[in-house]
Amino acid sequence: MLKRLLRSWSTLGCLLALTLPPNSRQEEHGKLLLVSFDGFRWDYINRVPTPNFDAVMKEGVQVERVVNTFITKTLPNHYTLVTGLHAESHGVVANEMFDMHLNRSFSMEGQSAYEPRWWEEAVPLWVTNQRAGGRSGAAMWPGSDVEIRGVYPTHYVPYNASVPFQSRVEKLLSWFSGPEPIDFGVLYWEEPDESGHNLGPESPLLDVVIADIDDKLGFLREELKRAGLYDDINLIVTSDHGMTQLSSEKIIELDSYVSRDLYTWVDKSPVVGIIPKEGSFDEVYTSLLNANPNLYVYKREDIPDHYHYRHNDRIMPILLEAREGWTIVQNKTRKFMLGNHGYNNTLASMHPVFVARGPAFRSGYVKSTMHSVDLYPLMCHILGVPPLPNNGSLASVQDLLEEALTETPSPPPTPRPLVPSRPKDPSHAWVVGLLLGTTLVVFFLFIFVKQVTLKQLPTLPLSNREISQPLLYEELRL
Ligand SMILES: [Zn+2]
Repeated sequence: MLKRLLRSWSTLGCLLALTLPPNSRQEEHGKLLLVSFDGFRWDYINRVPTPNFDAVMKEGVQVERVVNTFITKTLPNHYTLVTGLHAESHGVVANEMFDMHLNRSFSMEGQSAYEPRWWEEAVPLWVTNQRAGGRSGAAMWPGSDVEIRGVYPTHYVPYNASVPFQSRVEKLLSWFSGPEPIDFGVLYWEEPDESGHNLGPESPLLDVVIADIDDKLGFLREELKRAGLYDDINLIVTSDHGMTQLSSEKIIELDSYVSRDLYTWVDKSPVVGIIPKEGSFDEVYTSLLNANPNLYVYKREDIPDHYHYRHNDRIMPILLEAREGWTIVQNKTRKFMLGNHGYNNTLASMHPVFVARGPAFRSGYVKSTMHSVDLYPLMCHILGVPPLPNNGSLASVQDLLEEALTETPSPPPTPRPLVPSRPKDPSHAWVVGLLLGTTLVVFFLFIFVKQVTLKQLPTLPLSNREISQPLLYEELRL
């Protein structure tokens, strides 16, 4: 009888679990902090002493080279990191965009950056985490102060470049340590991108900036330790892209090849979207096609497959791509930079840094390469959040994890093009779960009470109990 009671209570416990709020799963999964130092190239850690990057690598893992997604610019790649989608699938295809259906332009530096429609072809991880019952905090991550699918991060700071790194860290740590702690945080810092553009990556002056980033990582580590979070948190430090040196000798002037009256250009060097004026497509295309050996010219439908950069109407009818180190301008009056990114994502100079440590990660492990789309399923695994359809593969990066996967890794990358599916409405699922759970609990209690009552009656035939109880148990095994 005692055994049966225990078994019954255990079954009842399963049933009650069905009726608990979904965030009860949080206890079992890790905390995660994703940090991006914009434009931190993979090899910067080799040019000056970086004791804090070294410590994270020693305590955890390093991926020597992360193959990011085309185009290797800030917004497309930051959105890839939190969606696992290539730009053609998440829809943030450039820092400056034009949407022919909306007849609207987007600029990362304008008010349009706060319009949800530019971001809503995908769902970032902070939204999915919250829909699964978790809490998220964002300190300036691109897109994190935008309402996406009706959801803001649980806590966030509106973008303001003048807020110091230390303040961003303090905010995040207060959210991780608060009475209702977040389990997922994202942190963004504008350097060394800005200095990389202004100085060029080959400038010795950039060494000072890299050393300063290492100091900032040191501040973050110390603050995590002071808050008692260091051992519990999974810390990932990466970036969106690298940087390459430009030269005033390597300029492609479009005005030399085609009249600017025949087209509108969208986004800037080194990948430029061209919208020919009506009736001018052929003239613009043929004028540019063989104009300069350092300029690659594609019709949208001919953009190479490996760029995963074709199946989105925000990609312009003609795409110009400069060879590494070359700059596309209309004429030379434009302001000239010494460093840039955005080029072919297979170039080493475009690849970002990646180090990570924490309970989920192995120690002292170095992996040679990974794709940035694989980070999303890895983070979902750490958080215990079911990933949405994505272009990444958990199987490709599972060797970074301390514990071998006990469940089947996510399937190989989904064939492209991939249309992200809208998550199910959690409130609807909750009502159905509640109704189902309540019905099962009432049913179970009815049978249980009946059985206990029947046990008191010695005249009942034994066979009835033996038939009903195993059936009930089997049906309710969840
Ligand atoms: Zn930049």
